[in-house]
Amino acid sequence: MVDSSQIEAVVKQVIAEMGKLPGDSGISAASFNTPAASSSGGDRGVFMDVNEAVDAAWTAQREWVRFKIEERQRVIGEIRRVSRAHVEEWAGKVLEETGMGRYEDKVEKHLAVINKTPGPECLNTEAISGDAGLMLEEYAPFGVICSITPTTNPTETIINNTISMIAGGNSVVYNVHPRAKRISAECVQILNDAIVNAGGPANLITMLKDPTMDTVDELAKNPKIRLMAGTGGMGMVNALLRCGKKCIGAGAGNPPVIVDETADLSLAAEKIYEGASFDNNILCFAEKEVFVVEPNFDGFMHLIGKQGAYCLNAQETAKLVDVCLRKMKDGSGYEVNKSWVGQDAAKILEQIGVRVSDKCRLAVCEVGADHPFVQVEQLMPVLPVVRCRSFEEAMEYALIAEHGNRHTSSIFSRDVDHLTQFGRLIETTIYVKNSCTKAGVGIGGEGHCTMTIAGPTGEGITNAKSFCRRRRCMLAEGGLRIV
Ligand code: NAD
Repeated sequence: MVDSSQIEAVVKQVIAEMGKLPGDSGISAASFNTPAASSSGGDRGVFMDVNEAVDAAWTAQREWVRFKIEERQRVIGEIRRVSRAHVEEWAGKVLEETGMGRYEDKVEKHLAVINKTPGPECLNTEAISGDAGLMLEEYAPFGVICSITPTTNPTETIINNTISMIAGGNSVVYNVHPRAKRISAECVQILNDAIVNAGGPANLITMLKDPTMDTVDELAKNPKIRLMAGTGGMGMVNALLRCGKKCIGAGAGNPPVIVDETADLSLAAEKIYEGASFDNNILCFAEKEVFVVEPNFDGFMHLIGKQGAYCLNAQETAKLVDVCLRKMKDGSGYEVNKSWVGQDAAKILEQIGVRVSDKCRLAVCEVGADHPFVQVEQLMPVLPVVRCRSFEEAMEYALIAEHGNRHTSSIFSRDVDHLTQFGRLIETTIYVKNSCTKAGVGIGGEGHCTMTIAGPTGEGITNAKSFCRRRRCMLAEGGLRIV
């Protein structure tokens, strides 16, 4: 039995072969938005059924791969334009649906991915011309990619991954976090409209209306999915790595920060306050614990208090552990109490009877290096600070707290040897010196932005190149050489 999507694909292929695709002929892009191109069981990219979502994305990809780079740029330009027009609305709706983070910071995150996610311009061709001919290596699409997105950056990850993945000629099927599925569906539909209005194929990005763990399994088993990309916690990333298919895993972090004896303390207090309170600390790359070398400890606590942080005493810290964390059922340690993830510092502190103004964005407390606030990835604006006897001790503690995620770390120091030593030891994908860790994804720093930081599988700060296959074309016997 041949189904309608297969017939549709064959028809489009024949038309394409005849050189009638937009850009290949004088036919306008809009003329390609025929009913056949957009007919499917979905609602502007949102599907009830896994196979339908994959088939629609597969059909769209067959068409998309033939678009010229200039046409991909035009479509991506429209995605950026339309997303910019929705930033405030989406930031508000994400906050409403997930109940986590801060509106103004979500606006900044959206603008960062819209403005700083590279398009196809980063897909440089490598060429070698020599006695034995001409070699070209190019970035080719995988085909249909399944992208699993987190609740902490739902629409930001969809915008970011859509630009990166389609820039490389792929299409995408999203399995979004169930706790952000309404705003994710709205975003996917609006981006689909933008793609179609700019002359691109319908259903270049699709998603499941009701995503579950089972739908992830079905997607992983679907032969038309060529690449699984997971952005979220380590449970999900580890599950993906076992699926038997090519995976890009962007997992959890627990970024340590060192403030050494040579640091500019005012700068450290200012930047750590800013970074650790950004979007209430739900970002995987946000500062999660600080190791301060002894001579600077009291000065640092004083200065971060002056920035606006509330400094907890020992009794208050003990009470807050019972609010923010829960003992694991098997007694092996603590886990985060999800009810307080991404909440405002003032709300969290209220639970232990401490009242602060809404302007207070962060609580800080002095704890030992093995304290659960240091070891558990909290994703809350509660920052543990550890007093260390030496730089070497700070490095040792930081290495343990990072748990081998090799995600993000930072240091405040004016000692070049310290900057080098810690970078070599900690081996994180992002290593920031003397600024907020968010500078490492281009928010207040140089370089492109991503919300998919693939530490476990090594792609790092992902962009269009990360979601492409390398293909080589070899023209032998001198080929086109003119020298
Ligand atoms: P989460 O792991 O609960 O969910 C992420 C996604 O994975 C969701 O779509 C969820 O439905 C799915 N999922 C969860 N367990 C799964 C399993 N066993 N099998 C298949 N799918 C599964 O994470 P979250 O709460 O949405 O996000 C916060 C976590 O993600 C933090 O640990 C944070 O550090 C991490 N994160 C990492 C990056 C990165 O780029 N490295 C970016 C954002 C968030």
